Amino acid sequence: MIDYKQVLEDIHTELLGIEDTGEVASYIPELASVSQDNFGIYLNRINEENYCAGNWKTRFSVQSISKVLSLAKALSLVGTSIWNRMDVEPSGDPFNHLSLLEMEEGIPRNPLINAGAIVVADILISELKNPKEDFLAYVRGLANDATINYNERVATSEKATGFKNYATAYLLKSFGNLNNPVDQVLDFYFHQCALEMNCEQLSNAFYLFANRGICMRNKAHLTLTQVKRINAIMLTCGFYDEAGEFAFEVGLPGKSGVGGGIVALLPNEYILATWAPGLNPKGNSYLGMQALERFTTKTGASIF
Ligand code: GLU
Repeated sequence: MIDYKQVLEDIHTELLGIEDTGEVASYIPELASVSQDNFGIYLNRINEENYCAGNWKTRFSVQSISKVLSLAKALSLVGTSIWNRMDVEPSGDPFNHLSLLEMEEGIPRNPLINAGAIVVADILISELKNPKEDFLAYVRGLANDATINYNERVATSEKATGFKNYATAYLLKSFGNLNNPVDQVLDFYFHQCALEMNCEQLSNAFYLFANRGICMRNKAHLTLTQVKRINAIMLTCGFYDEAGEFAFEVGLPGKSGVGGGIVALLPNEYILATWAPGLNPKGNSYLGMQALERFTTKTGASIF
């Protein structure tokens, strides 16, 4: 029997003892003010007791982690036709790289880089009656938590400085892969990225990916095939140009965000969410990556 409480406490103590060489993201000004001292972990086990350590109760900006949730919603609305507008290959490039998109004629490499997520946002705007409200309601429903919200200050801050995302959206538009106005699509995208959750809420929102498409409220949102596909995309594309390293070190599907969050899961077993805002040079949480590596090593539980 694994003593999960002890495992989490050990990881937390061990990592607090090392120097956090990560840096807090500053290209979105509102994120720059977050204290690097935060470090939280939450282990959400399917039908078993949950465990936590550190600042797991503090909410943070989930940023790119939201791309998995928007993909799930879009996939459940439009099905496999989504793959006519984007691919499922890892990019090996940073999340906001533009030249690849131009070379590949406006078809994003995958839904978890910015270009792909912007196309997903376009699909949701076309499909949802009140896109921002409906998407928020969807996330709240998944996590069974009505207190989850957008942080308007973060959304506004990113809107003011998100030049590369504007460039990406206009490039997509020029290739005919964006149906709605750029401003409307990006307003949705910036809000989606500005969702705030703590580690527990994040693990709850991702519960369905470890629980065969069935969310915290026991409602089925995705088919088994859709869950398999989304988990595969997280494994191959979830960590910017460090997805190979994450699979190598940790061995779980997951997704990180520049707010310092990481969520990873072992199907049918658990969801593990970490938050530490200092990012390594590839944009992944420095302590979070190590926490996950230590967790799968200490417990011996990964998809491999
Ligand atoms: N909103 C951020 C951007 O588009 C998300 C980046 C991330 O977390 O990877 O730049």
